[in-house]
Amino acid sequence: MKGNETGVSSGSIQKDPDPEQKAALISRRSLIAGVSGAVVLLGIGGVARVAVGDTPLRPPGGQDEQHFIGTCIRCGRCQNVCPRDAIKTCEFEDGIISARTPKVNYRLGHISSGYKRLREAQTPLLGLLEAEGSGFCDFCNLCIENCPVGALVAFDPASEWIGEAVLATDRCIAYEKLGGCRKCVDYCPFDAITVDEFRRPVVIPEKCNGCGVCENICPASSYRTYHNDTRRGINVHVNEQGRPA
Ligand code: SF4
Ligand code: SF4
Ligand code: SF4
Repeated sequence: MKGNETGVSSGSIQKDPDPEQKAALISRRSLIAGVSGAVVLLGIGGVARVAVGDTPLRPPGGQDEQHFIGTCIRCGRCQNVCPRDAIKTCEFEDGIISARTPKVNYRLGHISSGYKRLREAQTPLLGLLEAEGSGFCDFCNLCIENCPVGALVAFDPASEWIGEAVLATDRCIAYEKLGGCRKCVDYCPFDAITVDEFRRPVVIPEKCNGCGVCENICPASSYRTYHNDTRRGINVHVNEQGRPA
């Protein structure tokens, strides 16, 4: 029988590949092993994430996550009574454990343009309560009062927080164009945002209670729509350490 085109006839003893081929073979095997390992690890991480998720931002009084998750019966009353439409139901990415529990969302609705005047004329909380609009928390306490099982406990906006407002300096307009925006500074009802020497906003955590006005009013997502970027320049995040005194 004639040998094949590589010159190796069937039944002949195969020689070891030359060192270069061998090295290529080994590196391909290592790559495949590495990728498979990463996929398995990602899979495990993914499953854990789906099960637990990141702690969602809870309505006022729901900041002790252990108490909250063990008590909330997912009845939806807090969501139904919130006059600011600031409470939504957890989604898939919040984890299976949080399924159908409430979380705060400051991205929907909007605060009235007259609010800034109210804020200047009145004490912060009174200004907030009288403001028109939705998508922020005015600490009216209705969610707490209507929770039938005490998952939301008494909350003091003067000393506690729903979460901490954190600037995203890669999104904030004032960090891109110095002095280009100061909406969060002007609208924060609790004077919890100041400006640095470059007129860029800086959050004072001791004063912030996580009301969400800044996140709601931040125009960065509209500004960046042209850049296909819908993120905001300031966002209220969970901070389980509690508000600094
Ligand atoms: S305190 Fe009032 S405004 Fe704030 S989340 Fe609860 S019901 Fe809504
Ligand atoms: S009212 Fe209370 S029990 Fe019902 S969903 Fe809201 S936090 Fe949970
Ligand atoms: S910094 Fe934002 S979340 Fe904090 S009190 Fe001011 S407006 Fe509310």
